[in-house]
Amino acid sequence: MTLLSKFFSKDSIMTRKMHAAVVEQFGKPLVLKEWDIPTPGPGQIVVKTEACGVCHTDLHAANGDWPLKPSPPFIPGHEGIGLVSAIGAGVTIVKEGDRVGVPWLYSACGHCEYCLTAWETVCPSAQFGGYTKNGGFADYILADPNYVAHIPAGLGAKEAAPLICAGITTYKGIKVTEAKAGEWIVISGAGGLGHLAIQYAKVMGLQVCAVDIDDGKLAHATRLGADLVVNAMHGDPAEAVKKGTDGGAHGVLITAPSLGAFKQGVAMTRKRGTCVLVGLPPGDFPVPLFDVVANCITIRGSFVGNREDMAEALSFAAQGKVKADIEMQPLSAINSVFERLEHGDVAARVVLDFSAH
Ligand code: NAD
Ligand code: ZN
Ligand code: ZN
Repeated sequence: MTLLSKFFSKDSIMTRKMHAAVVEQFGKPLVLKEWDIPTPGPGQIVVKTEACGVCHTDLHAANGDWPLKPSPPFIPGHEGIGLVSAIGAGVTIVKEGDRVGVPWLYSACGHCEYCLTAWETVCPSAQFGGYTKNGGFADYILADPNYVAHIPAGLGAKEAAPLICAGITTYKGIKVTEAKAGEWIVISGAGGLGHLAIQYAKVMGLQVCAVDIDDGKLAHATRLGADLVVNAMHGDPAEAVKKGTDGGAHGVLITAPSLGAFKQGVAMTRKRGTCVLVGLPPGDFPVPLFDVVANCITIRGSFVGNREDMAEALSFAAQGKVKADIEMQPLSAINSVFERLEHGDVAARVVLDFSAH
């Protein structure tokens, strides 16, 4: 019996409690409380959390911002990384002690037309970590081993955390812009997602224009390799992008959680280019129909990425080509972290540190 399995014997798992940050009511502060440590059923695993990133999506979840709502009480968090601490019957794909991540794509059916074509992110039976299933703002996470991220050796839990949502989402989003090496891409929003998007885009050989409303974020974007930066608060940002890119960007990736950025993003897109929508502020934005049609622009949604995208996104980081900028905070600070995120006061990504427990 390994040390871990001795510590997490079935009995102790059934009686022990963990710390969790819980959404009890939409729009209210999260409640820090004790919660039963989950027990793995057949085909399930339990992960002992080491670190969990805080994504702007967690804020949307806690506010009940979207048409498909989670059901309180629930535990947010879909950038949880930890060690497999208990295994249910029949699990062979991971073993105790493996470092895994429990991502937004918590599970899918594996059999529908979308799953069969590696578009499991839009499986009608998909479950979402920290949303329809409890997530990583807790000491332990119940997970489906078929959908966990396998963290490469050499990548620490804290550094890996932002990659399993912010990393995969932007890496996939850049791919679906179909912008080619040497062409221009706009990264609108240079926060948690955007600071990684800039790095992926540079590694993929693109010329990067970062757009944000905060000069500090733009200065950081330049340090990360952005070739051009535009502050969307000054003048007409679409004009500035068109001027700087000689006619607009071949690909535009909008991560900003602000509707204004979406209309601007379409206007920044070059003729025949692709504007990829990733940010999820509540509401709709007007599409300038004539411009889109007459310029043959593609507008495309993109939702995290599949398991192969996950492996690729992590591999760039394991090779040292992409690195998340992280600020560590304890779980108990979650409400002040949410407040800062809401006001754009997080430099890149906050990661909750569970190593103190
Ligand atoms: P964040 O708060 O860390 O970063 C947002 C950035 O956008 C900040 O730097 C902010 O200054 C900037 N910004 C705000 N208004 C802007 C504007 N008008 N123009 C340009 N920049 C502006 O948030 P995040 O964690 O990076 O998440 C961003 C969004 O992406 C959220 O809506 C989140 O729900 C969504 N998201 C979507 C997916 C997906 O799969 N589609 C995955 C993860 C997150
Ligand atoms: Zn996320
Ligand atoms: Zn499916």
